[in-house]
Amino acid sequence: MLSNLATRDVETLLHPYTNLDAHRSTGPLVLERGEGVFVYDTAGKPYIEGMSGLWCTALGYSNDELAEAARAQMGRLPFGHLFSGRSHDPAIELAEVLKGLMPVPTSKVFFTSSGSEANDTQVKLTWYYNNALGRPRKKKIIGRQRGYHGVTVATASLTGLPANHADWDLPLPGFLHTACPHHYRFAQSGESERAFSERLAGELEALILREDPETVAAFIAEPVMGAGGAIVPPEGYFEAVQAVLANYDVRFIADEVICGFGRLGTWFGSEALGARPDTISFAKAVTSGYVPLGGVSVDEPLYEAMLAESRKLGTFGHGTTYSGHPVACAVALKTIEIYRRERIVEGVAAKAPHFQARLSRLAEHDIVGEARGIGLIGGLEIVADKASRAQYEPKAGVAARCVAFAQGEGLIVRFLAGDRVAVCPPLIITEAEIDALFDRLARALDRTRDWIRAEGLT
Ligand code: PLP
Repeated sequence: MLSNLATRDVETLLHPYTNLDAHRSTGPLVLERGEGVFVYDTAGKPYIEGMSGLWCTALGYSNDELAEAARAQMGRLPFGHLFSGRSHDPAIELAEVLKGLMPVPTSKVFFTSSGSEANDTQVKLTWYYNNALGRPRKKKIIGRQRGYHGVTVATASLTGLPANHADWDLPLPGFLHTACPHHYRFAQSGESERAFSERLAGELEALILREDPETVAAFIAEPVMGAGGAIVPPEGYFEAVQAVLANYDVRFIADEVICGFGRLGTWFGSEALGARPDTISFAKAVTSGYVPLGGVSVDEPLYEAMLAESRKLGTFGHGTTYSGHPVACAVALKTIEIYRRERIVEGVAAKAPHFQARLSRLAEHDIVGEARGIGLIGGLEIVADKASRAQYEPKAGVAARCVAFAQGEGLIVRFLAGDRVAVCPPLIITEAEIDALFDRLARALDRTRDWIRAEGLT
């Protein structure tokens, strides 16, 4: 029997990334408030928010300083835009702060309101750049199978997940995908991580040559794949890939939407994994998810090309009403101030060994094939058979069931395609809360195993 709110939800809301049919009978989990790493439903039941909402609420819930930063900016200048050379101090100050933080040479910062818009901007800037340089054929962009970059027509095309392509007539022409760097799933028998990385770099090179290097403009990658399964690249991966990109003048876009702002124990994931991109997309934790904000770094060569082009065209024809929204910028400034003052990034590095040790222990569970992660992000791969790594039929929905059991245990985690479960708690989580998180997840796995047996799944 659905509650009143749940019934109204089912009657009125179209939910993103939801099994629409199942939702009509199960209804939503309706949350009412949050405090620290906990969120509470309308019945007052607490849950550890083991996903930071959607990989974003790095400072946890009910942070008064962030709320006050938004309120103060709303009282001062609630809207301002950056069109036609207009500006406001929160955007200027935030751009300065971000320029100082970026792990890549950055001339300018361009703001958006989401990760999708940030990556969409990357696509357009890549095309614009190559037109400006007089090489209009150099336009193709290579993403990776299982990579996730957003939902606009272009960013869903960059994405390498079937749900983002099937029935949407995507990817668009000119968007290609190279192999997923998941050693557990795709390495050959006995292949070391380094050898696997070299092989994947070789496959990327073969793809570029097949397509003609004169037509390939950019490669995009998340430092750690998030929605694809919390997949940490194998040793030497970015080193090997970057050598190929450099040979063919292919730009490297790092999608730091999940990894940016401390998730791996470094300000950006690229720093932890030896990635040296030309440009970075960010969103989510830049405001700890409190208000929508994203953006991209623009390097000097790109800016110079754009400057020349806009002299010809009279304008740089891109941007949205909310690019650089002052309330979002004010909240981002306060978020970064807190990251620095509270030494949040250093805190992640200090807590990560404990988090990863607790995560690794789950690999001993009967139904877990692999437990992998870095910093405060992790993923589990549920398997039907540990030796062969065989998986359950997708329609059995085993990972979804595990997530539902976790919810029963007072823990929010996320299931991902391929029977994967992701964990990505707020960066402020304590060691005791990490223990509680993994205790609850272990109980959810036990209940999933018992359910598998009762159902007779193989
Ligand atoms: N890139 C990555 C790596 C993401 O994880 C996401 C969202 O989860 C996006 C881009 C898209 O961001 P948004 O949902 O804000 O459009």
